[in-house]
Amino acid sequence: MLRSHNLGELNLSDINKEVTLCGWVHKTRDLGGMTFVDLRDRYGITQLAFNIETNEELCKNARSLGREYVIQISGKVIERSSKNPNISTGEIEIDVTELKILNKSKTPPFTIENQTDGGEELRMKYRYLDIRRDPVKNNLLLRNRLSLETRKYLDSIDFVEVETPYLIKSTPEGARDFIVPSRMNEGQFYALPQSPQTFKQLLMVGGIDKYYQIVKCFRDEDLRADRQPEFTQIDCEMSFIDQEDILETFEGLTKHLLKEINGVETEKFPRITYDDAIAQYGTDKPDIRFDMKLCELTDISQNNDFSVFNQSEIVVGINVKNCANYSRKQIDSLIDFVKTPQVGAAGLVYCKFNEDGSSKSSVDKFFDENARNKWKEKANCENGDLLLIMSGEKEKTRKALGILRLKIAEDLELRNPKDFAPLWVIDFPLLEWDEESNRFHAMHHPFTAPKDEDISKIESDPKGVRANAYDLVLNGNEIGGGSIRIHNKELQKTMLHHLGFSDSEAKEQFGFLMDAFEYGAPPHGGIAFGFDRLCAILGGDESIRDFIAFPKNNSGRDIMIDSPSNIDNSQLDELNIKTI
Ligand code: ASP
Repeated sequence: MLRSHNLGELNLSDINKEVTLCGWVHKTRDLGGMTFVDLRDRYGITQLAFNIETNEELCKNARSLGREYVIQISGKVIERSSKNPNISTGEIEIDVTELKILNKSKTPPFTIENQTDGGEELRMKYRYLDIRRDPVKNNLLLRNRLSLETRKYLDSIDFVEVETPYLIKSTPEGARDFIVPSRMNEGQFYALPQSPQTFKQLLMVGGIDKYYQIVKCFRDEDLRADRQPEFTQIDCEMSFIDQEDILETFEGLTKHLLKEINGVETEKFPRITYDDAIAQYGTDKPDIRFDMKLCELTDISQNNDFSVFNQSEIVVGINVKNCANYSRKQIDSLIDFVKTPQVGAAGLVYCKFNEDGSSKSSVDKFFDENARNKWKEKANCENGDLLLIMSGEKEKTRKALGILRLKIAEDLELRNPKDFAPLWVIDFPLLEWDEESNRFHAMHHPFTAPKDEDISKIESDPKGVRANAYDLVLNGNEIGGGSIRIHNKELQKTMLHHLGFSDSEAKEQFGFLMDAFEYGAPPHGGIAFGFDRLCAILGGDESIRDFIAFPKNNSGRDIMIDSPSNIDNSQLDELNIKTI
């Protein structure tokens, strides 16, 4: 070993010990007679002291050390005169007797500090330097603990981790596949898994009744800020269970993680149906850390001359508590916000219920005191509250108000990342209509079972068929989703037929799964958690990027290794890919 201790462990109990330490030069301070160097490694920072009186040569060498030089020193642990209570080694320093430079360093392109001066792209290009910074390093340590705790918990209830292949054929999870050409099978391609969905179902047929895997998945989607083309799931499947068993089991896992990682004890997770979530929050992933539910006002808003409301399918409001004192400017900025493309609404009506009992709205011409008081009652407003109202087509209006609800909560600091509010959303629709392809898509995926009591509606009212599908939502983010699966060949065939697959397409793509269903497939179901996002939320952050050691940028590029990149013509020839 090149070192006797790490840089986070020495303290007063080690006084007078002779030690050898290694690390990176964090900072050098030259105070004339004394030179101090902060030496850093993964574990912390230890102060090195060089005294010009006792060893001039050594002290000079210390002064010439550049930032991020890698050095090895030997010396004695002594008590510090000016102590630093903020770090674990803050009461001691090392009286250095030997110094060796193990490697020099160029000046880093950004400062290796908690608050760095480096921009996002620069930090990604030099990710190995970024990882030296505490915030990124700590996120990786948290990720490690999260995967360990997941394994510990699932192992304790008899789950088995099984690896499934990465070179497979397409699984439809609603995104585009990444494709890998096969050299040995000319003109043919593998797809990288969007998830191990079909394999985990086959493991159920294979009798592995409790499976999990912390696994990479690949989806070739246009990237939003918090998506990565390759991401990690905690992927799980169980046999001989119903929906209730899955919800119980994975509520257990989530509780365990919240307790171990965040020290938070959670009550039984509330449940809401998909329809109620949309009606009450305008989204299928409600943030329930705060209330501000959507309240439908249609019936009491349409019996007068205000044509905007009269022509609307729905009139709906949110009660913003204690905000009747919002200024004109604050209200205008909300109106501007709802008109941005992100929200896409035409406008916003407001009604202030003042402390003195009077009220004032932006549509007083049409809604007198009496009418405004009806709103007040229906929306449970009290004096001092602000009612914001939107109207239009049902789905769009609810969605828009749902976005406004989040924005206001953000402004009012109601979204505290240290609060955790988990929620199950259940009873998702089985199918959703896709305008572009003009046909139904599976809302979850084609292997999801419809509810028994709804199967008969599949021809007459396909939109009304509910699935045994569920999402786990945490603080307004979907962190997990799954379903009870179809395990019967005929039903799977019918389902694929409804999704527009011809018999031969269904056989060609999913014949292997349907064949397996003929050999005693047990009833089964499962769930997958987005592991990167789970790390981010438990780490108190919204963005997943800093919880991934080597993430890609918004164009799907790894700018550190410069990938994707061109390949040689000879490689293309081998793969039988014609050069353009
Ligand atoms: N395979 C699904 C997904 O990736 C999860 C599941 O149904 O278990 O979303």
